[in-house]
Amino acid sequence: MSAGAILVVEDEPAIADTIVYALATEGYEPRWCATAAAALAAVRDAHFELAILDVGLPDANGFDVFKRLQQLAPALPAIFLTARSGEIDRVLGLELGADDYVAKPFSPRELVARVRTVLRRVARAQPVPGAAAEFAVDDERKTIRFRGRALELSRIEYRLLKVLVERPGRVFSRDELMQRAWDDPAASFDRTVDAHVKQLRAKLRAIDPDADPIQTHRGLGYSLRETAAPSGAPGRG
Ligand code: CA
Repeated sequence: MSAGAILVVEDEPAIADTIVYALATEGYEPRWCATAAAALAAVRDAHFELAILDVGLPDANGFDVFKRLQQLAPALPAIFLTARSGEIDRVLGLELGADDYVAKPFSPRELVARVRTVLRRVARAQPVPGAAAEFAVDDERKTIRFRGRALELSRIEYRLLKVLVERPGRVFSRDELMQRAWDDPAASFDRTVDAHVKQLRAKLRAIDPDADPIQTHRGLGYSLRETAAPSGAPGRG
């Protein structure tokens, strides 16, 4: 899987080659543009995770390119490549909102490390959609959709899941769940809650094998995750 498309705006082919090679080696998809015009055209027709911008371009300076890129893709992070200390002063002094800069000559490895750091920082800053956002409860039809797909639920499963989805993070004891989901809680055994949760999990996993939005709290009960679990994370059970 690609680590992300990176726009490389650099007019010197030898430098561009080094950057493109270093990025590709690390799994990124670099796209080289030698001019400001080509860079703007590229951003209009493709999505990039980050832009590397040479300050000294033949048809515009990197600062102006950056401003125009920001109009086209406001969330696009950028790293400037500067050739002279005067340019570094401008990067810092302009407070353009660039994410980082690297002074020439630079080591391609160092540049890729900066790319990785900026992307990580950007990813962290984005709110993780909670597990509840993946569900849509339709009270009138007594149905629940998970990631846009309708779940086939028994009446008890529907009520159980609705209770959990409506209060993400709240831990419900088996008794509380029974009171809310069963017509005659007194006639049921505690363990049946576990059996229904198991069924629910199987139905969610039928849509996504990695889906695990319902958390077990040992000795306490169940809750819906407040945040979506990172893929491949442990914790099912
Ligand atoms: Ca240049």
